Amino acid sequence: MTGPLRCAVLTGDGIGPEIVPVAERVLLAATARAGGAVETQHLPVGFAALAEHGTTFPDDTAAALHDTDGWILGPVDTAAYPPPAEGGLNPSGECRKRFRLTSNIRPARALPGVPCRFPELDCVVVRENTEGFYADRSMVDGTGELPLRDDLALAVGVFSAERIAAATREAVRLARERRGRVVLAHKANVLPRTMGLYLETARAVCAEAPEVTFDDLHLDALAARLVLAPEEFDVIVAENLGGDVLSDLTAGMVGGLGLAPSLNVGDDAAMAQAVHGSAPQIAGRGIANPSALVLSVAMLLRWWQARKAAPWCAAAAGLVEAAVAQTLAGGLRTPDLGGTASTVAFGHELVRRIET
Ligand code: ATP
Ligand code: MG
Repeated sequence: MTGPLRCAVLTGDGIGPEIVPVAERVLLAATARAGGAVETQHLPVGFAALAEHGTTFPDDTAAALHDTDGWILGPVDTAAYPPPAEGGLNPSGECRKRFRLTSNIRPARALPGVPCRFPELDCVVVRENTEGFYADRSMVDGTGELPLRDDLALAVGVFSAERIAAATREAVRLARERRGRVVLAHKANVLPRTMGLYLETARAVCAEAPEVTFDDLHLDALAARLVLAPEEFDVIVAENLGGDVLSDLTAGMVGGLGLAPSLNVGDDAAMAQAVHGSAPQIAGRGIANPSALVLSVAMLLRWWQARKAAPWCAAAAGLVEAAVAQTLAGGLRTPDLGGTASTVAFGHELVRRIET
């Protein structure tokens, strides 16, 4: 590895302009402290891009991402975007599709001193990111609906062996570093062709890793089991919709969306992105919790450490994780966790801890 790592920063909508600058400052502070170098570059997406470039995901942004080592995507308020024909593209979906970011890794673990309902939960959801029932949106008219009548709509799901195999391989990789257990969430009982293919494929991938235990559970039963016996779970692999729901569930079990990080990974690209959305209800009030996005940056640093031969990234990631854990344990908290700290005050404390 020569020269600084290049990290793009995509601010996004809603609480994005509040939490993304905190994540960027923390990245730069931790990098400097660990003796490494990262160069950040801001690229427009979302409403800011729509105003200036006529689309929420400009081609120039996509092109510039190819020349980076990874990027931070802030939350995007896709529900409020105009239709695709008027420039409203989902930046998150576009990134996932165009850069083949097949797996979304979403860890959920209680942090010391942070109140939560399920302190014993320590699991990772690997969500297949690109297909399932979320893939139909561009198949027909770009809106995700095939209107037959005003009171009837159809959805078409896409389920390929290739993509669930990739997500399962990611799950196996994680399980090897953790407690060696992978469980697939599916509904092959009611969707035998599509989810049946996922089940068969995931089972075959895991059969090649005998050191990892493979199980499968129906998505609904798994949800019940999660709250009845959270300690049983290690790595959960799930199709797109199921993984989206399960990872909000696991996030809520350990303290809420404000703490839930994720990393989207493909063969040669990675994107740090909080599990939560743009939270328009609290946007502009300076009270959003930046922890989820900051911890996503730590995940990106760990990916760089493994993939970009940049050993200092491990130290930088450790600094970021410790700063979040210590700040929360020390009692400084944003309102979603029952505290009174502002986003800015919380961010200052993270940087102070990293620098001293
Ligand atoms: P999306 O479909 O984009 O995932 P969503 O409907 O799931 O959006 P979110 O934007 O994730 O909704 O947020 C749901 C609620 O969770 C918000 O209204 C807010 O109260 C809370 N929330 C989410 N993220 C944060 C955060 N970083 N800090 C504080 N509260 C948050
Ligand atoms: Mg959501």
